Amino acid sequence: MQARSEARQQAWFLPRPASLQFAARIAICFLAVWLAVVFVHVLPAESAVPHRLQFADGILLAYLLVVPRWNWPAYLAAGFAALLMGGTLTAGGWKIGVLHALLRLFEVMLSAWLLRRRSCALPRFAAPAYLGRFVLVAFVLAPLATGLLYSIFAVHLLHESAASALLTWAVGDGLGIAATTPACVGILLGGFAVSRQSRTGWIYVAAAAVVTVYCLVRVDTSLLIVLYPLMILVLLRQGMVWASTTALLTSVASVYCTMRSLGPTGLMQSGVSLAPIGVLQLNLLLGTFTLYSISAVLDRHKTRKRELLRAVELHNLVMENSRDIIMLEDIAGNRSYVSAAAQNMVGLKPKELLRTKNLDLVHPDDLAKAQEVIHLMRSGVESATIECRVRKQDGNYMWVEASLKLVHDPVMHAPIGILYIVRDIQDRKQAEQDLQSAYLALEALAATDSLTQLANRRHFDHVLSTEWRRCQRAKQPLSTLLIDVDFFKAYNDTYGHLKGDNCLKEIAGMTREVATRCSDLVARFGGEEFAVILPNTSYAGAMQVAEEIRSAMEQLRLPHHGSPLGQVTISIGCATTVPVTGQRATHLLHQADEALYEAKRCGRNQVYGWNDNTVAREAELLSGS
Ligand code: GH3
Ligand code: MG
Ligand code: MG
Repeated sequence: MQARSEARQQAWFLPRPASLQFAARIAICFLAVWLAVVFVHVLPAESAVPHRLQFADGILLAYLLVVPRWNWPAYLAAGFAALLMGGTLTAGGWKIGVLHALLRLFEVMLSAWLLRRRSCALPRFAAPAYLGRFVLVAFVLAPLATGLLYSIFAVHLLHESAASALLTWAVGDGLGIAATTPACVGILLGGFAVSRQSRTGWIYVAAAAVVTVYCLVRVDTSLLIVLYPLMILVLLRQGMVWASTTALLTSVASVYCTMRSLGPTGLMQSGVSLAPIGVLQLNLLLGTFTLYSISAVLDRHKTRKRELLRAVELHNLVMENSRDIIMLEDIAGNRSYVSAAAQNMVGLKPKELLRTKNLDLVHPDDLAKAQEVIHLMRSGVESATIECRVRKQDGNYMWVEASLKLVHDPVMHAPIGILYIVRDIQDRKQAEQDLQSAYLALEALAATDSLTQLANRRHFDHVLSTEWRRCQRAKQPLSTLLIDVDFFKAYNDTYGHLKGDNCLKEIAGMTREVATRCSDLVARFGGEEFAVILPNTSYAGAMQVAEEIRSAMEQLRLPHHGSPLGQVTISIGCATTVPVTGQRATHLLHQADEALYEAKRCGRNQVYGWNDNTVAREAELLSGS
């Protein structure tokens, strides 16, 4: 705690490193602006020469575009001091010096305010939108506005014409800012870092310097035009900062030589059309705008490339990490892409899967439907889904669901291939199959009598009503047998209920063996009663089946000491009808029950029949003996 307060005390009277750094930056700004002013003003003054390029404005504007906005007052003060000192030292009198400094300060402040409405917005000269704003504000609006003010003073103080004063100010300042600001911003933001690929790019900078010197030395022909391709090369290899710095240095050298009547433009005759400095300014203007335009195009290109790379990365991320197999085929079925998931799903490497044709791995039973879906896709159907089995590397088959999507040519829009997204649905299919088996088992259980394993009463009723309707439609006879065990109460009493159950099981098995047609249904009707449905069976046929059952029972010779017959016997009531509209299936059951009652009444171990449609009662006493 004590140490901390000591440190605070120390920091109070010693200058902080941050303050020192800030002061150093302000001092550098002051020096740079001052040198720029002095450089322009040490050039020989010619009354007929238009206004000179003002690099100082560009330098101060670059500072304002880069430093935080709350530091602007400090930089503006340093800049104003430099403009004032440089201007009054060199210009023709203190009044002119102060006027120039004030107007320049206004010009820079206006540009900075219009270009940087928010403190966090840093200049981006490579972005076309920002570049457009910069040109409009710093190259056109601010110099014109200040030029108008200057022309008012120039008319009174320097006795210049208003138009010439406006033109010289606007061109000189506008061009000075355009040539200086981007380079200075680049330098201030530390943009000189050279990437690994462009280490040899400095050669072009050196070449530009050599060509500049050569152009300025050779006076017979103007080779300044050679600088353009060199600048473009510097821009392409080293970036905008290097290119604009090279352009700035070339401008400074050319202005110096021209104003000292050296070099090709300096030696030009001050003709009627354009003065030498005017020709130079035009050259510099063209050069600067060439650089800006190419830089904007390059930036857009780089942005697109970045976006494209990001899209490719995302695409690869999705493709390689998807659990589904993603495949691309041409219309003929040749694969061009298989994602990494193939290895996990079917045990084949993507390369191996690429070598197979589209239906090679499909299970033979699913081949027809797979072929049909692919045929549909090839004939123009946009998308489809198919579930099929495919062969894995170990030879086993697995269930998959393939979603197919037609791929179109981006230009011609014609179908060029099919995109497959193949999903493993083995677990789902297995669960579906288990569920289906469980459902079937449950359904069978719900329809089966647990003691005899015959159909139960519920199932019997269902089948009877179905067959009733079917035979009604087809106008076919429907027969029913009701079977009742004779003296079964006595059987239970004699042998016990468990033996009674076994006896019922024997009778069930025997009955099922006699009624063998696939449409026949033998059911336990209730207690010791059984029922048989004989669809499409005539009365005579049904009576024959009934008799066969009765005699088969007799043949079993199950002992029954409680019965006067000495063995287990059954009585059967038979009824046949061709179902007609208005009647119900219970009608048939009722008749079979009546017939059974008659069989019992007539002495048991008998078959008694009731043929509804012949309206003839037939009693057939068929004793076994
Ligand atoms: P009959 O039909 O010849 O007139 O005489 P019956 O003795 O068979 O008469 P009834 O139909 O009244 O008796 C049916 C008996 O069947 C009553 C019951 O003890 C027996 N029974 C019914 N269901 C079962 C069963 O599931 N198991 C056993 N062991 N016996 C049953
Ligand atoms: Mg009974
Ligand atoms: Mg009975």
